[in-house]
Amino acid sequence: MFYNSTRSNQTKVSSAQAITQGISKEGGLFVPESLPQLDASVLQELVEKSYVERAEFILGKFLTDFTQEEICHCAQSAYNDTKFKTNQIAELSHLTENTYMLELWHGPTCAFKDMALQILPYLLTTSAKKVAKDKEIVILVATSGDTGKAALEGFKDVPGTRMLVFYPEDGVSAMQKRQMTTQEGNNVAVCAIKGNFDDAQTGVKKIFTDPAVVKKLADHNMMFSSANSINWGRLLPQIVYYVSTYCQLVKEQQIKMGETVNVVVPTGNFGNILAAYYAKKMGLPVGKLICASNANNVLTEFIQTGTYNRVRDFHTTISPSMDILISSNLERLLYDMCGKDDAKIAEWFKALNETGTYTVDSGVKAKLDEEFYAACCDDQETKATIKQIFDRYSYVCDTHTAVAVKAAMDYREKTGDQAKMIIASTASPYKFANSVLDAICGEVPEDDYAQLDKLYELSHLEIPKALAELKEKEIRFSSSITKEEMEDTVLQMLHLD
Ligand SMILES: *Cc1c(COP(=O)(O)O)cnc(C)c1O
Repeated sequence: MFYNSTRSNQTKVSSAQAITQGISKEGGLFVPESLPQLDASVLQELVEKSYVERAEFILGKFLTDFTQEEICHCAQSAYNDTKFKTNQIAELSHLTENTYMLELWHGPTCAFKDMALQILPYLLTTSAKKVAKDKEIVILVATSGDTGKAALEGFKDVPGTRMLVFYPEDGVSAMQKRQMTTQEGNNVAVCAIKGNFDDAQTGVKKIFTDPAVVKKLADHNMMFSSANSINWGRLLPQIVYYVSTYCQLVKEQQIKMGETVNVVVPTGNFGNILAAYYAKKMGLPVGKLICASNANNVLTEFIQTGTYNRVRDFHTTISPSMDILISSNLERLLYDMCGKDDAKIAEWFKALNETGTYTVDSGVKAKLDEEFYAACCDDQETKATIKQIFDRYSYVCDTHTAVAVKAAMDYREKTGDQAKMIIASTASPYKFANSVLDAICGEVPEDDYAQLDKLYELSHLEIPKALAELKEKEIRFSSSITKEEMEDTVLQMLHLD
């Protein structure tokens, strides 16, 4: 299996190269040349397998330059019950007789980013051994919350890697800040920036591309790599849980092999829902892909009209991990839908960069209509949905998942389609206890840990150990710097100053 770039079909690299490099030189994203096909008999074989075995099977189809031992090592190191709550890894909860919640947040940081960031360090170090001659990998992350913590947990004490995370001092929740500043591990560091997320992101990009810094690293047998969600090594593990969940539903006799199910995904950077689209293209019997957005509804508008327009107000919402105006992974979808027309993709994304907007052609629009349904809701509706689901089903969902539940209800009402639905549940409600409590009972204790206790009293849902334990953990990283000091901080951490 080789990988092309969405902006250059001439580019052809191995999976190890795609994962190590992260993004193609001309700015395109790496995509597999073709998608392996899973027919009913292959799926049937996976029905009796465990999550980790299903992962090994799917990964093996894409990472053909990895040995079987390497693939097993990566999958088994990431997906086990020391990292996740149980060996089920992706847990299914029944909301109604035809609606299933796919809980992707039973990993170490209580958000779905763990599904990919627990395995990425193994995929990346295995890849770097093949194409980068055992260089030490240095990863810089700018985060607005969930990604930073999940990346830190994934990479902590992984031999051959170093990680430095920058977060905006006043731009993350108290719980998210505590999760990061108490981070353990001898190869990681965390630093607050006096500025916003964009300052952190711009600073990281500048360091990445500064020739003097890059050379200093190279002289010491180090190289930069990236853990952000456009890396193929983050997307691929997400295909696994859609295939696995379908097989699990067959195993539990909830569906018949071949039965079509719809998938609903609370969407930000379009990674999670793109993985569901790829699973469908591989032959998984998926019907509609329902793309749910919050008040930042650029994707809803795009799917409904065919015009993408990022020139609009940015809304800070109670589902912050979906507060995004440029959904990077959409580029991969459009590349597939326009028949791998790399020139067209380059043109559209150049227009996005220069004017903030582009419009797809009628062929792509027709495919969007066929595959997708889009809906959005604001914070008020998100809270009302949390309350409604809690009152009706005694199920507590977090603020991101609630946006998806609302879209699922919209879809059923508008279309009458009663096919079974899998709703991706992307964070533990305890991670956003403040907004969840506000929605359910309107009373929110001041103290973060009192909020966890109060939500427990109401829901009797187990408090994730990882969050409860934070109270006892010492703060390891308390430095706060200006954006001008970021480069020096990186060099100091690597002892290259
Ligand atoms: C990152 C994130 C999302 C959005 O996922 P994308 O793959 O970026 O679309 C949704 N919910 C939560 C809780 C997240 O952390």
